[in-house]
Amino acid sequence: MRLLLVEDDTLLGDSLTRQLETAGFSVDAIGSASGARHLAAVEAYRVVVLDLGLPDGNGLDLLREWRGEGVDWPVLILTARDEWQDKVNGLKAGADDYLAKPFQVEELVARLQALIRRSEGRVDTRIVVGGFALDEHRQALTTPDGVDHTLTGTEFRLLRCLMSRPGRVFSKDQLLEQVYSLDHSPSTNAIEAYIRRLRKRVGRETIGTRRGQGYVFQPPDDAT
Ligand code: CA
Repeated sequence: MRLLLVEDDTLLGDSLTRQLETAGFSVDAIGSASGARHLAAVEAYRVVVLDLGLPDGNGLDLLREWRGEGVDWPVLILTARDEWQDKVNGLKAGADDYLAKPFQVEELVARLQALIRRSEGRVDTRIVVGGFALDEHRQALTTPDGVDHTLTGTEFRLLRCLMSRPGRVFSKDQLLEQVYSLDHSPSTNAIEAYIRRLRKRVGRETIGTRRGQGYVFQPPDDAT
């Protein structure tokens, strides 16, 4: 899940990036409104964390701009403590949620996961497809035989992408984009290697190859 983090406090930004990546997000962090504007124009994100006080502008103006252009990614704004007006203005400008600084990262992660679930129309914290259940809190996969598999961050992000839209073919480039942030630029060979590892857990035929197109999650007995 690609996440755009707009935060000019580098200390907070660095520590949030690390913790959000541990929680299964691929994070692009940027410290200015102009940088965020540029990234949002060329990249595709699942969710955005937006600080309001930026050195070259107000996060609210950026948010209004995005909503005016039809950008519909869920946005969580970071506000200063007790600035209730910021919260109201943020929600009016199109924010989906807010969190006042200082906050616990666990709460931020839980709120982001809830925003993504809502944007996907889910209430369950697990993605369930044809007997496979992917638990985003535990980053674990339960296979139809009832066995629990703990996944690495990259395995989880890749499988989450495939399982979130079963039956849809993802190209290697699309998967690469969703699984890694801009800081990492692995080749599509890395995707092939991870697909091989995932197939050992879910069964070879569960992740199909479409020659020249990409990969698709399609469990053999999928009744959904
Ligand atoms: Ca700030």
